[in-house]
Amino acid sequence: MAGFPDVMDKLVSLCKRRGFIFQSSEIYGGTGSVWDYGPLGVELKKNIKDRWWHAMVRSRDDIEGLDAAILMHPRTWEASGHVAGFVDPLVDCKTCKGRFRADKLEDAKCPQKPSKQPGQHDACALTEARQFNLMFKTHMGALEESASVVYLRPETAQGIFVNFLNVQQSMRQKVPFGIAQIGKAFRNEITPGNFIFRTREFEQMEMQFFVEPGTDMAWFEQWKAARMQWHLDLGLSRDRLEFHQHSAGELAHYARAAFDVQFDFGGTLGFQEIEGVHNRGDFDLTQHQQFSSKKLEYFDQVNNKRYVPYVIETSVGADRVTLAALVNAYREEAVEGETEGRVVLGLNPAIAPIKAAVFPLTKKDGQPEMAERIVADLRGAFTVDYDETGSIGKRYRRQDEVGTPFCITVDGQSTGDQTVTVRDRDSLAQDRVDVSQLKGYLAAKLVG
Ligand code: ATP
Repeated sequence: MAGFPDVMDKLVSLCKRRGFIFQSSEIYGGTGSVWDYGPLGVELKKNIKDRWWHAMVRSRDDIEGLDAAILMHPRTWEASGHVAGFVDPLVDCKTCKGRFRADKLEDAKCPQKPSKQPGQHDACALTEARQFNLMFKTHMGALEESASVVYLRPETAQGIFVNFLNVQQSMRQKVPFGIAQIGKAFRNEITPGNFIFRTREFEQMEMQFFVEPGTDMAWFEQWKAARMQWHLDLGLSRDRLEFHQHSAGELAHYARAAFDVQFDFGGTLGFQEIEGVHNRGDFDLTQHQQFSSKKLEYFDQVNNKRYVPYVIETSVGADRVTLAALVNAYREEAVEGETEGRVVLGLNPAIAPIKAAVFPLTKKDGQPEMAERIVADLRGAFTVDYDETGSIGKRYRRQDEVGTPFCITVDGQSTGDQTVTVRDRDSLAQDRVDVSQLKGYLAAKLVG
């Protein structure tokens, strides 16, 4: 069976052209695998983050939000195992000076032609693999000495573990409960790439759920199911999603069980992790107890017992899900009766960066004024675009390409009877709607 097509190159170009994603510091030649979100990209990613925050924090009373700092006490990373163990095996090629992950050579390309994997050309001279720590190091304060070394966090989770008791006690939470946060993480990846799939600066949305030992596997199953459902609700196609269970050999040092939610990015990339659901046991809290000499136990008043909770973690990359949503949504279609087809981002309307575009059919007869009044009215509730340039067909195409679910046209009839046409991005159906009903009409269709 043929897999999903590779749309990455087309997406990279669309994202740049239409203001979703630009290469960081492009005028200087770009920074390796760091990307900036443009006006439409920031809306899309923010909508995805807001959805996660709503599902994980605001709609529940057993999960609290947190926004911990990126810079943490350096002992944190000794306790977590990152200083010693957050490493990838690295090989250098003495011929081409390339650097590759020894365990992912099959995904890498030697710069020599014809294109082959590193080590396969006669001239390749790969070194022995050595361990390369992925954490970015910097110095805190004015002195550059070893005592001042701090790290840019490689994951947001540790900010949650060290605040476990602060949150539990201040919010009078009882186990089981969770702490969630969204924030930047940094990894000096050896082979970043595939656009925003693997970058050196990215955003994570993580939740640690603290449970009584013995109840952990039941919670693990619940969170696995809940997180898969979240991706489906986001609009990712069922046939592009699957679970991948980590075998004993793949399990991270802290994990008792782990499943990845994988998404099929199409082409040769295929199924790749977008989220991890992990049973971390009591590894992290126990380590932080040891390294900080502070108790991180929970006192169960009802049963009069003390214990270190186990942790079920759900960890998803905001950028990776944004990419999955874009890949999932991208399609090219023929249009009946027209020679030129159209490109559509069939995003779930709830996460589309622009919810509605308003067009006057012509630039006269009071149509632009009426269209602008509609824009002003809708802006309080939705992100709205106004466009009066080019043919109506061109204006539709521009909106289809960025995923705008509704195009509202003010035409000759509108100024007389106060109705407009609303065109649906996917079905192309046009409804005639009374201007006074427009907000409610759109709101009903944007739920989901
Ligand atoms: P991978 O094996 O792809 O490097 P990982 O197993 O190291 O990922 P985790 O540490 O479990 O990833 O991180 C959780 C999530 O954070 C991932 O599922 C992914 O969505 C996101 N993520 C991790 N590393 C990156 C990165 N370099 N760029 C973008 N997102 C990332």
